[in-house]
Amino acid sequence: NLVYLNGDWVADENAKVSVFDRGFLFADGVYEVVPVYQRRPFLLNLHIQRLQRSAEAIGIESIAAEFWYQLVSDLIHRNNLDDCLVYIQLTFGADSQRSHLPTQPLTPTIYASVSPLQVHWNTPTPVKVAVLEDIRWHRCDIKSISLLGNIMLKREAAKKGALEPLLHRNGRITEGASCNYFLVKQGALYTPPADHLILAGITRTWVIQLARQLGIEVFEVVCDVNQLQHADEVFLTSSSREVQPVGQIDDIIVGNGQCGVITAQIAEAFHASKRHLIQE
Ligand code: PMP
Repeated sequence: NLVYLNGDWVADENAKVSVFDRGFLFADGVYEVVPVYQRRPFLLNLHIQRLQRSAEAIGIESIAAEFWYQLVSDLIHRNNLDDCLVYIQLTFGADSQRSHLPTQPLTPTIYASVSPLQVHWNTPTPVKVAVLEDIRWHRCDIKSISLLGNIMLKREAAKKGALEPLLHRNGRITEGASCNYFLVKQGALYTPPADHLILAGITRTWVIQLARQLGIEVFEVVCDVNQLQHADEVFLTSSSREVQPVGQIDDIIVGNGQCGVITAQIAEAFHASKRHLIQE
């Protein structure tokens, strides 16, 4: 595939970044992932707004939204992919030496690529999650390229045969290592507030809106492990996973282990919104 790197279009295997790039040395950067269905980026404005918020939070000078819209469009067309995930990474830039504080004004390194996307049109089969302690930092609202905590937790969950960890801080469930979560209790949805302890997922925002349109109540409140374990239904959300039902939490089967009624209703509304985008 062709990737974009600092103004150039190059084959991915030929894309090279300096060893002094602050992204490489310090993970001093942010990223974004945008799903594309039939060449149409889904909820692009929300993704670009979040990228700009993340960049601003770590002190990278602002880049116009129009630049990002053009970049995404060029990536899709140059690579000729219908359904794909666009990856955008923005780091503080390359210095002339390794120094915790930059030694001079730097130009941000901009990298963007695409990967094929398996679009879900039916609700996927329920997966297992493992409850683990959230060992990450306290600015999970920034979509930082430093994913060490997330990856360590993902590996630990995988060892337990779980697709994803569900993370808790002092018993309060925050999110997954690469997704948000919702639980269903007596017909209403519960998900934690978008504070500094979670990444405010675009899929999460969209699901909240779809649920309310369906007349389903949504509460953005903290939920503890006990509430999670006694939920009627649980599902995960992310750009690549969309709406993913959870059938098992550690040794506990959620409901009857199948996709719940409300989850199926939300997933169907989600698929419909993608179809709507494509037909627009
Ligand atoms: N939380 C974390 C930690 C994530 O990495 C992601 C994205 N992979 C999400 C939540 C979901 O965000 P989105 O719906 O915007 O993909």
